[in-house]
Amino acid sequence: MDTLIFATNNQNKIDEVRSLLHKHFKIITLKESGIDMDIPEPYDTLEANASEKSKVIFNITNKNCFSEDTGLEVAALHGEPGVKSARYAGDNRSFDDNIEKLLLNLNATTNKAARFRTVISLILDGDEYLFEGICSGKIINDRKGDNGFGYDPVFVPDGSDKTFAEMAMSEKNNFSHRKKAMAKLITFLNTYHGKNKD
Ligand code: IMP
Repeated sequence: MDTLIFATNNQNKIDEVRSLLHKHFKIITLKESGIDMDIPEPYDTLEANASEKSKVIFNITNKNCFSEDTGLEVAALHGEPGVKSARYAGDNRSFDDNIEKLLLNLNATTNKAARFRTVISLILDGDEYLFEGICSGKIINDRKGDNGFGYDPVFVPDGSDKTFAEMAMSEKNNFSHRKKAMAKLITFLNTYHGKNKD
């Protein structure tokens, strides 16, 4: 079984990704690799932040690794909170504070269209590959459900009438941005035969 370091400290993401990938690859977390750090996300795009995180970990470990960065992009807010999704209401603010700010900013508009977008950066045998996953849906005015994390209680994906927070993880995975990006990563890994082989 091949081993990949997943460059995140977010336990929800680790659980989600393990539920998708465990049959094919062994996922090692940062902690399990002996790395205790918060990797900075200093850039204005999901792509640049995902790339930075995997490069930082590759430079420390010299091992195959991947990272992901996700943002909630709201049409009426011109793509915000986007890359700032984790810190929308300010540094060190809670998921609930971020939702509060989002609902306030969307109060005056009827256009509630939104999407989650995930970008994965994989570093394999020293080369980088990017994968994207998008889940379109809408923001609802009141929180519903207790599962998941982040904006899950106010996000309803297209094709469902439940929020992500009302779904079990397996149900969320049928729609999820992260699942779609991971599916592309898995397809790539399954067909990858090594840099110097045919
Ligand atoms: P990160 O920078 O990729 O960790 O994600 C930024 C923020 O986006 C998180 O702090 C969450 O608020 C939000 N987020 C990311 N993925 C999800 C998800 O699957 N559901 C709900 N919110 C999410």
